[in-house]
Amino acid sequence: MTKINVSAQSASESHYDVLIVGGGMVGAAIACGLGNQGIKVAVFDHTEPEPLPENALPELRVSALSSASEEILRQLGAWPHMTEMRMTPYRRMAVWEKLHTPWGKELSSRSNRVMFDARQINQPQLGFIVENRVTQLGLLEAIRSCPSITFISPVSIERIDTSANRPLVELSDGRRFYGDLLVGADGANSRVRQAAGLAMEQRDYEQQCLVATVEIEGGAQDITWQAFTPTGPEAFLPLPDIDGRSYGSIVWYHQPEKVRQLLALSNDALIKELVKTFPAELPKIVQLHERGAFPIARRHVSQYYRPGVVLAGDAAHTINPLAGQGVNLGFQDAAWLIEILVDACRQNENLGSPQVLKRYEKARQADNALMMNVMDGFYHTFSNQSGPLKLFRNAGLALAGKMSPVVNQVMKYAMGLAGKQPKLATGEKL
Ligand SMILES: Cc1cc2nc3c(=O)[nH]c(=O)nc-3n(C[C@H](O)[C@H](O)[C@H](O)COP(=O)(O)OP(=O)(O)OC[C@H]3O[C@@H](n4cnc5c(N)ncnc54)[C@H](O)[C@@H]3O)c2cc1C
Repeated sequence: MTKINVSAQSASESHYDVLIVGGGMVGAAIACGLGNQGIKVAVFDHTEPEPLPENALPELRVSALSSASEEILRQLGAWPHMTEMRMTPYRRMAVWEKLHTPWGKELSSRSNRVMFDARQINQPQLGFIVENRVTQLGLLEAIRSCPSITFISPVSIERIDTSANRPLVELSDGRRFYGDLLVGADGANSRVRQAAGLAMEQRDYEQQCLVATVEIEGGAQDITWQAFTPTGPEAFLPLPDIDGRSYGSIVWYHQPEKVRQLLALSNDALIKELVKTFPAELPKIVQLHERGAFPIARRHVSQYYRPGVVLAGDAAHTINPLAGQGVNLGFQDAAWLIEILVDACRQNENLGSPQVLKRYEKARQADNALMMNVMDGFYHTFSNQSGPLKLFRNAGLALAGKMSPVVNQVMKYAMGLAGKQPKLATGEKL
């Protein structure tokens, strides 16, 4: 989709209120929210997702979207387009630590299991597993009906200059775009972040994650589960039924060398490994369709902005995906940034001014750091095999599983229903 506004100042030079590099899930959400309020936005992406044929097999990249993300996407006008495509509600979520007998056999009883059930908090579901392409296509559809957004793709960016008064994005075909504000929503290897010289702390985990899409027997599932092991979690996410066949997504965290070996196996050999290793809860796998591996790292910028430039989503932070929170944090970034910029516009403030951008950083930095620390807590706690700690955490899991107020509170937090929310997540008018 290449849509150029007629209001461009000259054939090769244009001015917008906001330039966004990256039209992925987070960048497209920010564009929608600002564009819906009449703010003039240009979005640049070097690729655009292909349309999704109705009976196409499920994509490899999927995300568990929280209720808060659902509401944000609904307010932005993307959700109806997404439900027209496909998504899978999950009503239950189970977590436990895999335990073995002294002679190495996996214990089948799950006394240490914590089960979260949407019915306990009177909700129809805990969230939805959605293919990333579906979310992106839904947002692009919403962007199409918004005249103040110019989405330019595919592009090759020649230069990003954030040193002058107004940030500049120059394309390799010579076109120059100036903005009052430049948003970097260009993912973990953000070029905007580098151009702006925003420093980032990075820590690699000693694990990678193998993701596989499988066809399963037994019909559509409504549960997502995760079993912790010393080498990393083993997880299952339900996917939609397509043409009467059921699917699931397998996520297997392990040391990078083991993930490399697993990736090299034939489909049949990988299925055998999954059956041998994964918990008995794994539905029978009929066929393995696609697999891929993703490195996982904790990254967080120490400052979210400098005058005229701001970062959102993975450009500002990446998190261990073990609780599926990455893009949910990104949508929170998007919703707060939209709210603060719309407000600033109404007050005739400069969108790129440090006073405005500081408000956004204040709304997001501590929250994102907290979620990262919680994920680190899980990672380190479950990687540790010390006897007393193991006993303590399993007793804790068993106890937590029986204490409904604790479970209910955790559920609300995971669904994005706890804590201070941006207006787009509560359905309030901006
Ligand atoms: C294995 C795995 C599982 C995950 N599961 C979940 C989950 O269940 N739930 C969840 O919430 N999160 C999950 N995440 C995290 C989630 O995928 C990311 O947080 C999310 O994709 C970030 O979105 P984004 O829009 O910020 O960045 P990206 O998705 O990386 O999008 C960046 C966009 O910018 C464009 N771009 C980049 N550079 C340029 C450039 N120079 N010029 C033009 N365009 C550019 C790209 O083409 C892309 O469209 C998972 C991550 C992994 C690795």
